Amino acid sequence: MRILIVEDDAGIASFVVKGLRAEGYVALVAGNAPDAERHLLHATEPFDLVLLDLGLPGMSGEELLQRVRNRGVTIPIIILTARTGTGNKVRGLDLGANDYVTKPFAFEELLARIRSAVRSSNQPTSTELVVGDLRLDLFTKIAQRDGVAVELAPREWALLELFMRHPTHVLSRSRILAEVWSYDFDPGSNVVDVYVGYLRRKLNRPGLEPLFKAVRGAGYRLR
Ligand code: CA
Repeated sequence: MRILIVEDDAGIASFVVKGLRAEGYVALVAGNAPDAERHLLHATEPFDLVLLDLGLPGMSGEELLQRVRNRGVTIPIIILTARTGTGNKVRGLDLGANDYVTKPFAFEELLARIRSAVRSSNQPTSTELVVGDLRLDLFTKIAQRDGVAVELAPREWALLELFMRHPTHVLSRSRILAEVWSYDFDPGSNVVDVYVGYLRRKLNRPGLEPLFKAVRGAGYRLR
């Protein structure tokens, strides 16, 4: 599941990103409203949920909320702000936010509110990914191959989800590093190959199509 964090405070943004990634979510940060708007309206890969700060430089969170709702963005948006006033909450919810969480917050509660917002939204397509005999339930976090449940660590989950969203594409190591590990550089390790190896061991079984085909010099393809 892809979450966009709209937050100008780099410390808070990195705290939230780390926590979400540890849960196997793909999390990206936009530091201001115009960048967030571009992501929401034009991203090649759609987001499933937004965490929205209100106090942003330039265009405010409220204005962004109003603009993207007017442009037909229907994914859940949770306001995450230090503003605790009832007036702010009422305005935010009336402008189309699904929930309102005030800082400081307990991370467990934020996670529960994310699950709740996604559950109650009308986005059934984003709750389960199915590719051939592979099935990922994005709520229950259950992965299955050919009907058999497979336990995945958070990074393995994020990597498999990325492949399942692009089942026929060759994904380069640099793209995988950027999407799953948020590295915009190659750390010079073989971490991608190591994790692909973990997924192969967990998901490839005799009698089933071998997944994660290496494409020389290019990367990997799911099938
Ligand atoms: Ca702020």
